[in-house]
Parts: sequence; C-alpha cells; structure tokens
Amino acid sequence: MKCARCNKRAEIELKYSGEFLCGNCFIRLFEKRVRRNIRSNRLLKPTDKTAVALSGGKDSTVVLHILNDLHKRAPRSELIAISIDQGMGKFQEKSLNAAKAICKKLGVKQYVYSFGEEFGLTMDEIVERSKRLKNPAPACSYCGVLRRKLLNDKARELGITKIATGHNLDDEIQSSLMNFIRGDLDRIARMGAIAGVIKNEKFIPRIKPLRECPEEEVRVYAGLKRIEFETSRCPYSEDAFRRTIREVIDRIEERHPGSKFQILKSTDRLISILRSETRPGEIGRCRICGDLTSGDLCKACQIKREFGLD
Ligand SMILES: [Zn+2]
Ligand SMILES: [Zn+2]
Repeated sequence: MKCARCNKRAEIELKYSGEFLCGNCFIRLFEKRVRRNIRSNRLLKPTDKTAVALSGGKDSTVVLHILNDLHKRAPRSELIAISIDQGMGKFQEKSLNAAKAICKKLGVKQYVYSFGEEFGLTMDEIVERSKRLKNPAPACSYCGVLRRKLLNDKARELGITKIATGHNLDDEIQSSLMNFIRGDLDRIARMGAIAGVIKNEKFIPRIKPLRECPEEEVRVYAGLKRIEFETSRCPYSEDAFRRTIREVIDRIEERHPGSKFQILKSTDRLISILRSETRPGEIGRCRICGDLTSGDLCKACQIKREFGLD
C-alpha cells in the first residue's frame, strides 16, 4: 500500500477518511491539525507565558514537545512545565521521573508541587480516608479538583498567562457526552479549546492544543517521533461512568468511522449556541479562597473541609 500523499510506503490507515499515509505525512497532518486549532481558536499569543501541565504521560508530553517547537519560533514567548506530585505510590514516582527527564532533554524549566506539602494529604491518604465517608466521590474527582486548584494557584504566582493541558479528542467528547447525559448543559457551555472564558484575574485560561486529535493518533505520533513517556496507568480506577461512555463511543467509531469528529463538531455548535443564548449564572466568590464559584465555597475548599484540611 502506498501513501496517498507522497507515494512512499504507507504505515498508517486513517479509517475515517479512507486514507493510507506514510510516517512523515502522518506527522505533518497531526502537527497541522494542532497548529490549526491553536490559530483558529486563538489559543496562544506571541507574548504568552505558557505552562504545560506535565504529568509524564503521552498526551501532556506531546503537548510539551509541540509547544516547545512553537516557542523556539516566538522569541517573546515563554514556556515552562508544572508537574503535580499527587502522591500516588510507585506510579507517581515513575511518571514524575519521566516528566523530569523530558524537561531536562528539551531544556524546559520544570516546577513540581505536591499535594502532601500544599494540602497536607497525598492522594493515597485521601482515598484511604474517603472510605470512611458516607458518600465518597470517585478518586478522580478529588484528584481533578485539587490538581486544577494547585495548578491555577501556582501558575498565577509564577505570572503564567496560559495553562496548556493534554486533553485529546477522546477526553473532550467523553466529557461532552457525560455532561449531556447528566443534563448539565451549563458545563458544556464552559467546555471548548479554551476552558473557562470568563475574564477574571484569579483564573488562568486553560488551553487544549490536542483537542482535535484522536487519542490513538497521539499515541502513533509519539511513537513515530520517538517521544518517551510513562506508559503505566493511574492506580485508581477510572470513573465508572466515563469508562462506559468511552466504550460506547469507541464502539460507535468502529462501526461508523468519523463519528468522533462529528461529536466534537456537534459539541462546538452546542457550545456557541449555549454561550449566545444563556446568560452566565450568578457567579460569586469562594468565602475561603476567593476563587470564582456559584456556591458559597469552591469545590477545592469543599473537599478540604470534607477531609479536615482547612
Ligand atoms: Zn507520505
Ligand atoms: Zn475556595
């Protein structure tokens, strides 16, 4: 089989377009898709000081590589990495080591902050303690909220103007469908290539350069570019609802290639309709930390209170 674009030997089949591509043409297509997302959604300005939220896994590692290439061509921009040590046993150690090695290799300055030092409890301890709660939430939701809070607070202290995350197409459409099924359209309105568009001095905009890239293609890209990352998985099981949605979407894609892109397209239309038709709800400030929240306390402060950390 020959590459559809250059006639070299094809290595990759894109089921959704029926194309066969060689490694080089695939790399070009992948990078073009990321750059188009950055450009058309205005994710970055030439003067941005960007922090990549770097876990050491494939997605955030690929983001760091691509943004580092762009940064070299934008002399007024700055790029750093922030890694969070959530305190999750051996897995944490391995992924932090991988993150450290990548930063060293690329010459990117890395900052590491830990749950243990900043909140007084590691994720391992939070999961242990949550077993004693009446209605414990899935580990992912504690971890996600606290991680976002720590990233945002530290990025602000460092004078960061954008936080780049590794969210790929699969992550994004899973969240979209989950919110849709839960009836949480307000949350869909807050999704998008730049999350949290509300202008606020306490909130650093989060950008998702890989939002239009299927997870499988991120993996293929990392392999072709010989980008090293940590492959082991988080010890805490994935949110059960997300797992179901992932399986359903994967099955639909298998039988109807191209569906994943269509779900993203529908999500984007929905986001723009929702944003134009609904007024943002009353937004107040968290009584403890001052972050924006619709309630009395923000999610992170609620969790801290639940575990007696405030
Ligand atoms: Zn080719
Ligand atoms: Zn708060």
